[in-house]
Amino acid sequence: MSGFTRDTKMYGDRLVYEVLASKWGRYHAGHCGCDQDWLTAHVIPAGFTVVPGYPGHIALVGPGLTEDVDESQLTANALWEAVTGKPGTQDWYEQVRVICRDPEHEAARKAQNAEIYQARKDRAAKSKQEPLSPAQISYLTTLAQKAGRERFDEQFAIAIKGSKVAPRKARETDAKAIARLTKTTARALITALVGHR
Ligand SMILES: [Zn+2]
Repeated sequence: MSGFTRDTKMYGDRLVYEVLASKWGRYHAGHCGCDQDWLTAHVIPAGFTVVPGYPGHIALVGPGLTEDVDESQLTANALWEAVTGKPGTQDWYEQVRVICRDPEHEAARKAQNAEIYQARKDRAAKSKQEPLSPAQISYLTTLAQKAGRERFDEQFAIAIKGSKVAPRKARETDAKAIARLTKTTARALITALVGHR
């Protein structure tokens, strides 16, 4: 979203106007039609400066927009005039969006990220313990028959390596051995059996 922004971490104590490029590109195309890049053709020559910001964002400072303005009466009229060649008619005032970088807020943001990461880890751990569905068991049983006893045993041993699944017992049927697999070990076994045919 376009808007007046204060973000001390990114912009210091400067007030900037963050520009939604697609929106202002549309304004320019609709009102000017010079076919040039609106930023380099109009905004910069008009005396605005692009300040480094977040990737994919354009942040501007300049006279009439963020400089020499009454901050209780902020409008994008100066930018409008530069981009479209017509006087701006914005008669409402915009609020400054303040991005808070207090340690407290930063900590909350980090905690939230950690939570998302943990949930992802939990899901992965769960699939390591989850038993197979009947359909998966029957699919693997078919693969086992096609592979033959020797290859199946060999790949079974490889697939369960490092997991909690016990090795196959001598007299255990394919179906019983397969039923003991977890989703993760079954996936490894399927990949091995399908991949080497
Ligand atoms: Zn133009």
